[in-house]
Amino acid sequence: NNKRKIIRKIIRRDVENPVITLNGDSTIIIPINYSYEEDGVLVNDNCDGDLSSKVEIISDVDTTKAGNYKIKYEVEDNSNNKNSVTRDVLVREPLKPNTIYLTFDDGPRDGTTDVILDILKEKDVKATFFVTNNGSDSLIKRIVDEGHSIGIHTASHRYDIIYASVDNYFNDLEQVKNRIYNVTGKSTNLVRFPGGSSNTISKKYSEGIMSTLTKEVINKGYQYYDWNIDSGDASFNNNPTKLYYGVINSLSHDKYNVILMHDVKTYTRDALGSIIDYAKSNGYNFEALTSNTMPLRQKVNN
Ligand code: ZN
Repeated sequence: NNKRKIIRKIIRRDVENPVITLNGDSTIIIPINYSYEEDGVLVNDNCDGDLSSKVEIISDVDTTKAGNYKIKYEVEDNSNNKNSVTRDVLVREPLKPNTIYLTFDDGPRDGTTDVILDILKEKDVKATFFVTNNGSDSLIKRIVDEGHSIGIHTASHRYDIIYASVDNYFNDLEQVKNRIYNVTGKSTNLVRFPGGSSNTISKKYSEGIMSTLTKEVINKGYQYYDWNIDSGDASFNNNPTKLYYGVINSLSHDKYNVILMHDVKTYTRDALGSIIDYAKSNGYNFEALTSNTMPLRQKVNN
């Protein structure tokens, strides 16, 4: 009956970090003075289970000032394993009523964009140009030097290329981004999709691509802008008189007026002066879109 007993101690250590999942989008855009509602996060730990109540939230969001803010969510489990995720909150100035945002796509083009810039200068109006790889670099430089906003349309503007794949789209987009940077030294994050974000032509080349691209551009730090007034200068209003009446009859004092135009069209060039004169004598203001402006987005259909 002689006995001996020895003990081996086993320590089970938790070496895995807790897993954090954001509720809601990783990038949220809100207008100035709009209250930000925190959607929070879900936390799951392999040993400690639900740690959602132990999350520490560090936020520098100031909803009274346009800017890019971050919210950081940190959590530590009972074995001191840590993890964190961040959410971007972009606070933007709302588009203003009684205000006209002239937007010109597809240029620059020698012979039209230069005259349009002359008219804008003479009438002291700032506009937004969504450019391609067309036209002279000197026009790109003038757009920026004369205080207008510049954004990216795409290099090729070929639906069959840009909407065939996500990689194609961004390769094409970056060509124009680089062009603007090389010519002006300025980087832009403003984007307009050829055909707008609501276009259905893209379906022909890739099913669902607009749903992906509209999210991806935001994840990459771009902002895209559609319009709420189509001047018709790429379709039905194809002479200066029709275009003039088409635009002035669409204006509203009660809402913002983001007008789609094309600076590559001669009749847009020829109608612009009288459109601006009408708007000014009727009390409208003009502004350019900037990266502080609340994006204007149509419904995605593909
Ligand atoms: Zn276009």
